[in-house]
Amino acid sequence: RAKTRGRRSHCFFAPEMDAELKARRTLETQLRIAFEKGQFEVHYQPWVDLADNRISGFEALLRWTHPERGAVSPAEFIPIAEATGLIVPLGDWVLRRACEDAARWPQPIKLAVNLSPVQFRSGDIVESVRAVMLRSGLDPARIELEITETVLLEDNASNLATLHALRRLGVRIAMDDFGTGYSSLGYLRRFPFDKIKIDRSFVSELPGNPDCLTITRGVADLAAGLGMTTIAEGVETTGQQDILRAIGCTHGQGYLFGRAMTATAAADRLAGDRRIAAA
Ligand code: C2E
Ligand code: MG
Ligand code: MG
Ligand code: MG
Repeated sequence: RAKTRGRRSHCFFAPEMDAELKARRTLETQLRIAFEKGQFEVHYQPWVDLADNRISGFEALLRWTHPERGAVSPAEFIPIAEATGLIVPLGDWVLRRACEDAARWPQPIKLAVNLSPVQFRSGDIVESVRAVMLRSGLDPARIELEITETVLLEDNASNLATLHALRRLGVRIAMDDFGTGYSSLGYLRRFPFDKIKIDRSFVSELPGNPDCLTITRGVADLAAGLGMTTIAEGVETTGQQDILRAIGCTHGQGYLFGRAMTATAAADRLAGDRRIAAA
């Protein structure tokens, strides 16, 4: 019996895994080709100051339109780009593109760019950031680099040294997706972040879920006490916006304020935002 089952499961799983592997290899190749052909785009999602709901900056988010499948989620292709190492040149490109676009925005508007842990391991991320800043002429004080806990999880002195070196260039460092995975309060001691991004999984349960409210308020208090600002991810309703403002969260990002948009749309949105403020 066991033998039969074994053979059956073998027959059942093997072709499926084979197909999965093939699909992945195909995607790897297509990603590389798309990069060579310049088929990636950077879109920008606004984030606002909850005190006045005005835009304070935009997060650069990578977009890829697959020739047959249409838009593919970064959640799907970024891990593949990380595994193949393509994320290093691709990440450099995002940074360059985004800094060039942001250099055209009005002075106080900031730019946030996601950095992969792989970019810390390979390539000289500090040199890349320095070079891009010089070329774009963007004031480093307007740049925020978003990292995830994985960068600190690896607990190597070199990543920490890199973070400090980036900070010395004058850029700000934000901890992304805080509260997920293995986030530890120890990270907040190990490195003085400028900003904590509270993960969408907590925000989406507001205002109804009292546990999420307690956690979110706790993080906002903690951050304020440590001299860091807090931004809530995935704000979709005015109810969420109101409660976040009430508990002292300083910034918000989410569909309520806008989805990721092209550089042109972002510039238009900024012009509109200023007209509203001036009126
Ligand atoms: P992230 O850095 O946490 O970015 C926020 C994600 O949440 C974005 O998804 C954004 O579109 C989505 N989002 C924002 N507001 C809302 C909302 O109100 N509701 C919902 N349901 N979702 C919202 P996106 O663009 O699909 O990116 C997913 C992840 O891919 C990012 O998460 C980031 O980890 C990664 N990623 C994107 N672009 C880059 C990049 O240039 N470099 C690297 N290393 N990673 C990137
Ligand atoms: Mg991010
Ligand atoms: Mg995030
Ligand atoms: Mg996230």
